Formats: sequence, structure tokens, C-alpha cells
Amino acid sequence: MSKAEQSVAPLETEIFPALSRHEHEMVLHCHDRATGLKAIIAIHNTTLGPAMGGLRMWPYASEAQALTDVLRLSRGMTLKNALAGLNIGGGKAVIIGDPRSQKNEALLRRFGRFLNNLNGKYYTAEDVGMTGADMYYISMETDFVVGTATEVGGSGNPSPVTAYGVYLGIKASMKTLTGSDSLNGKSVMVQGVGAVGSQLVQHLRKEHAKVYVFDIFEENYKHLAGDPGVEVVGQEDVYRLPVDVFAPCALGGVLNPHTIGQLQCAIVAGAANNQLLDEERDARLLQQKGILYAPDFMVNAGGIINVSLELGTYNRNMAMKLTERIYDTTQKIFKLAEEKGTTTHHTALTLAEERIQKVGHNLLYL
Ligand code: NAD
Repeated sequence: MSKAEQSVAPLETEIFPALSRHEHEMVLHCHDRATGLKAIIAIHNTTLGPAMGGLRMWPYASEAQALTDVLRLSRGMTLKNALAGLNIGGGKAVIIGDPRSQKNEALLRRFGRFLNNLNGKYYTAEDVGMTGADMYYISMETDFVVGTATEVGGSGNPSPVTAYGVYLGIKASMKTLTGSDSLNGKSVMVQGVGAVGSQLVQHLRKEHAKVYVFDIFEENYKHLAGDPGVEVVGQEDVYRLPVDVFAPCALGGVLNPHTIGQLQCAIVAGAANNQLLDEERDARLLQQKGILYAPDFMVNAGGIINVSLELGTYNRNMAMKLTERIYDTTQKIFKLAEEKGTTTHHTALTLAEERIQKVGHNLLYL
């Protein structure tokens, strides 16, 4: 990303004002000199049930960046889980460090022990920078981990389910826009072809969509090079490519005035969390440009739907069935937004918050 495109949310530097802004319940800073662990666990809202959300490892340039990220991500999980109809709350964790060079068994197990101290108030899962093997190390110290490999009793990698949900979100968006949900001959720019992005490409290609990809690591898109329907583009083309759909599947904050100004797509729908740098402003900018925005926390819920089923009796068919509801939810949100004259983001957010409020009120009387 060029300097101008770099997207950083206003940094949170003081904890209590940051917590009160979006009513976070709790933040835990974890430190261990021996392993070099520096982690932050944020629990946003547990009205609907224990918090659940992924663990990310990233070489944040500052502690403020890590705090800002974990606060934004944990709130996003509350909204995502509520809108998906799950009985779990929102939380997230970040480990500060380079996953390529600073991740090891001791550090991950130390994180697991901190997590265990929360006694199930927060369940963690795999996110950017983590692998199934990493989650296994964490699970050696605590039961509050979901999404570990099937061989060790978990539900396995949630990314294919997330990708399936995003794919259905794209189809539902296309249906709203054109009256048909066929992606045959449509063009999609996928930004980031990691665990979710590369699976999304497979779905799109099965339907004969033309797919453009970009990833900061060549090794992540090398395997797609043999497919004539996939074209690798340069970083400078990611936003300005004339395509039907732009699918952000890398990191958050990529929709901001600078990038929205360049977009030449009809739909934005992708897996990345917190795509809008400034939720209200950037959702409005997209609307004013006539771009249909499928809120990230609505279309990327497949993975959390999948792992949340581990709290009961896990069943992959059930996970896929529940994920298929994303198609209807997407259409419902678009319709409501149109009727109310609000942005799709605002509509999805309102629906999620209403569910928390109504169900939360109910729980008072159980
Ligand atoms: P991943 O780490 O496997 O993939 C991310 C990819 O994006 C990597 O290949 C990385 O090299 C690339 N990338 C990073 N910065 C980039 C940039 N500036 N431009 C282009 N590519 C860039 O992560 P993932 O699991 O595929 O998740 C992708 C996004 O979806 C994340 O924002 C994650 O939080 C979100 N998400 C993931 C899941 C899941 O089930 N894995 C569920 C919900 C949301």
C-alpha cells in the first residue's frame, strides 16, 4: 500500500475513554518477559452469551495501534454474532509481533494460560497470522479455543465457511442490483488471497466469474497463476480497476475517502473485518457514489457461525445451512436500507443492536 492509501483509524491512547466510546466491557493486557508475549484481549459485549472472536498476530507499529485494532475488531464481533442470530457475544484478541518470526509454542501456550484465567468469558479462534497448529498449542493450556483441527477434536479451519458466506453475500448483492444472482461473466477484484480470499476465488471461478487478485506476498497468489480466468494485478490497480465487485479480503480500514474516490465497481462485498475506516462517513461516501456496500460483519459471519457450533454438538451441515442465511440477510438489509433511506451499514448495525437489546431484555427475566 502506498503511504496515501495507508488506512489507520484514529488511535486510541487512553483506555477508559476508548472503552466508554463503544461500551466495551473489559480489556486485558497480557505480558510475559520470558516468552516476549504482549497481547491484548478485548471483550466488547456478553449480553447474548460468552464473547467469541479470533486471535490475530500482527507486527503493530505501536501499542496504540494494537489497542485500536482489538477494540474495533471486538465490537465488530458483537455486531456480527448478533446479526447472524448466534447466542454469543463479541470479543477479540491480538498478539503484538511478527507471526513469521516471533511465533512459537511457548509464547502461544503462555497466551493460552492468560485466556484460561478468563474462565470462558471469551473463546478464541484463528484469525490473521494464526494457523490451526498455533491454535492447537493454545488449546494445550485451555478449553476456551474453537476452530482447532478436526484431528484434535475441533471443527477445523473456519475459512472455507467464511468464504462460502462471502460468496453468497456477493450473489445476493448481484441479485439486488441486477435481478439475477449469476456471477457468470462478472468481474471481481479480490484484495488478499490468504485463507479466505483464495477459497473465495475458487467459488467465483466455479461460476465462471473473471477474477483479479492482488496480495502483498507473491507466494500467496502463485498457485492461482495457471487459471486463465484469474489475473494478477499490481497494487496500484486494486481500487481503480473497473470491475463489478470489489472484495476486500486482507485487512481493515481499506474503504476511506482516498480509496473510495478511486473505486470503479458496483458492489463492495468481502471478508475483511472493519473495512470502513470511519463507519458513518465512508458508508455514506459509498452510497453517494452509487456503490452497493454489503456490510463486512454481515457477509463474513460464516467462520464464526461454524466455530460457534462447537459450544453445542458440532455439525458441518448445520454450519453450512446457517451460513446460507447470509444470502437472505443481505437482501433484507438492502431492502430495509432502501426503504429507510439509510446506509446499508447503518441498517445492519441497527438490526444487530436491536437484537442485543431485545434479547438482553428478555434474559433479565429468565
Ligand atoms: P490471511 O492472513 O490468511 O489472509 C490475508 C491475506 O491478505 C494474506 O495473504 C496477506 O498477505 C494479504 N494482505 C495483507 N495486507 C494486504 C494488502 N495491503 N493488500 C493485499 N493483500 C494483503 O487471513 P484470512 O483468514 O484470509 O482473513 C482475511 C480477512 O478476513 C481478515 O480481515 C480477517 O479478519 C477476515 N475474516 C476472516 C475469517 C476467517 O474465517 N478466516 C472470518 C471473518 C473475517
